[in-house]
Amino acid sequence: MAYLTFDFVPRDVEKIKTKYREIRTAIPNPQSVPVLQQLQKYEPRSMSGQPPIVWHRAEGFSVWDEYGNRWIDFSSGVLVANCGHLREEVKQEITAQLEQGLIHNYCFPNVPRAKLAKKLVSVAPEGFDKCFLLTTGAEAVENALKLARTYGRKIGGDRKIGIVSFDNAFHGRTLGAQMAGGFASLKEWIVNLDKDFHHVPFPDGYINEDTSFESFESALKAKGVTPDMIAAVITEAYQGGIAGFADVEYMQKLRQWCTENKVLLIDDEVQAGFGRTGKMFAIEHYGIEPDIICCGKGISGGLPLSAVLGKSEFMDLYGPGEMTSTHSGNPLICRAALKSIELIIKEDLVGRSAGLGEIFHRELNKIKNTYSDIIGAVKGKGLLAGILFRKAGTKQPDGEIAFKVVEKCFQKGLMVYAPLGPGGGTVKINPPLIIAEDAMLEGVLVFQEAVEETLKS
Ligand code: PMP
Repeated sequence: MAYLTFDFVPRDVEKIKTKYREIRTAIPNPQSVPVLQQLQKYEPRSMSGQPPIVWHRAEGFSVWDEYGNRWIDFSSGVLVANCGHLREEVKQEITAQLEQGLIHNYCFPNVPRAKLAKKLVSVAPEGFDKCFLLTTGAEAVENALKLARTYGRKIGGDRKIGIVSFDNAFHGRTLGAQMAGGFASLKEWIVNLDKDFHHVPFPDGYINEDTSFESFESALKAKGVTPDMIAAVITEAYQGGIAGFADVEYMQKLRQWCTENKVLLIDDEVQAGFGRTGKMFAIEHYGIEPDIICCGKGISGGLPLSAVLGKSEFMDLYGPGEMTSTHSGNPLICRAALKSIELIIKEDLVGRSAGLGEIFHRELNKIKNTYSDIIGAVKGKGLLAGILFRKAGTKQPDGEIAFKVVEKCFQKGLMVYAPLGPGGGTVKINPPLIIAEDAMLEGVLVFQEAVEETLKS
């Protein structure tokens, strides 16, 4: 579906000044309009769609534009700034590395890469002993798919190459990641889809009420797919489009089924990892361990880095020089990531996400109960929430209401990204894990006002 987009017409909005928010001008600020127009002119249309605010500075949980407007950030970039935007400690690491020299050095060894690889292995599940650094989440997913297929062929021959993934899943926009993804509309361009990618319903309990594991087995059976044809099952630890977790029992049975059938379980934690949901990795909520983990976004607090974590049995399938990437383990980014992870651990941001998350979800659920006509569900855990707007009395997503709510939020000093998910009906909110409790509550109140005003308008 085509998503609604915000126009660049400056609108007079309520002037606001609180401890954490300041709105002094029309939104978008008239002076920022030429920048917005320039981007529109020189970039593909696909890059538009977010609130028409030109970010100038972001620190902690605040975002500023150049004109003195300040927002409480409920976006974390896009779930990137888990330890907060521009932490002083991270800045110092980046500066120190710059002073030492911006050595871009491909796969030549460097100290920060060695330290980061060790650290990532230390936070991974028991038995994981290898870490491969890359740049984007999609790249990590591509690599996990490649490793899984390589492993499948090794143990089961050319037949064992199938990849099972879920309806409404998102794994990135490159060819393999897009084929693993579960939105048909996003992969029409591929036309000759790989026949060894198979999709099954995602057991979230709301969009799909059947959370029985039999639904997994029967979906495969209906497609004529048997376990000897499957190399891996890939799933997001929670589905980003609705912030929806899978049923716990289903996931435990899936783990068992994968083990019994020598099928790898790939856990895409690109957006879920590093404390976002109140656990270091969101898969811990199911009490199971995957075989391969894909990480990205919140791993580095704002610089492009991703990683694949796993056991050497899978990670060492390729020989020296056969599995590399130009920007793998850039020292500057590794130092930033190492410090971000150290901060997440030292400040117990995982526990903070769980604790604040309880309050966050309690308050959001109050809003849902007040506006249950148009809010079908509040999904997520920890400092992650997806508010699913619906056409009154149905489960049909209401992209228009979601869009208006987001517009009101950013006009009132709450930074929220454009709605997403099925039908564009999900407003997803996820502040940096260091957010002050009163700022978080202020943000939730702004969200409530936005819902109220949308209903009145
Ligand atoms: N997997 C998941 C679960 C994601 O949410 C995303 C990005 N939203 C990706 C993969 C792709 O990451 P990137 O945009 O860094 O390629």
